[in-house]
Amino acid sequence: MRSQLILLSALSLTFTTSCTTQKKPSVRITPYKYKIDSPNDLPIVYVSFIFTINRPQAKVFDTPLQMYKELEILNRYFIDEKNQKIFKFKINHYYSYRDFNKRKCDLANHLNQPSPIITQNIPDAVKRCFPRRKSKEVLFIIYDSYSQKLKYSDITSWGFRNNAQPFILIDWERLNHQTQAASIHEMGHAFGLGHVCAPKAKKTTPTNIMTSYDCRLGSGGLRNLGFTANQLNTILENYSKYP
Ligand SMILES: [Zn+2]
Repeated sequence: MRSQLILLSALSLTFTTSCTTQKKPSVRITPYKYKIDSPNDLPIVYVSFIFTINRPQAKVFDTPLQMYKELEILNRYFIDEKNQKIFKFKINHYYSYRDFNKRKCDLANHLNQPSPIITQNIPDAVKRCFPRRKSKEVLFIIYDSYSQKLKYSDITSWGFRNNAQPFILIDWERLNHQTQAASIHEMGHAFGLGHVCAPKAKKTTPTNIMTSYDCRLGSGGLRNLGFTANQLNTILENYSKYP
């Protein structure tokens, strides 16, 4: 399987990568065991969760408990191909929709609108909204993706390396690790990884975390196989460079 993966190294140079999935998931709100310890000697990545959606359907996820679930998902599934954890993810801050709304950021005008996002406008808007960044911090921004074809059923998520100030945009319908490991995959982009292709992968085929449908060669598969040694090197190299 691994030999079929073709690394698109050119993509790893880009700062922004979209991750399209066309199938609408059914959203589950399930109990989740979220207390899994990570070894203490791992490099720490701080995560700040920002909930930007005011729609009633999404608001059930706008809770501290859900953010701890998302943190646990990162700690559990952001692993290498030997199933070893890479980072210890810790919460830095949780901004509920109410907190986000109070900041009156123009970022709100760029997300959750009935038009597709314009990706090149997002980094500056994020910076204006959150000008101060903690060391080794990734912003985990929860939003509602929109496309002409699928309207708000679109679940496209994004990872931005953003000149060492990384952030990810996760469609709320992909919280709870529901569809193709969105947060894990986008976190891979946040640490500089590009896509790999797994030709003919079906939805049930085990694939590398960074596999993408965007290759137009398969569905992207399960994205359940940890990062290869090369991918791990890229992740750790970028981590060391990030302020
Ligand atoms: Zn991607």
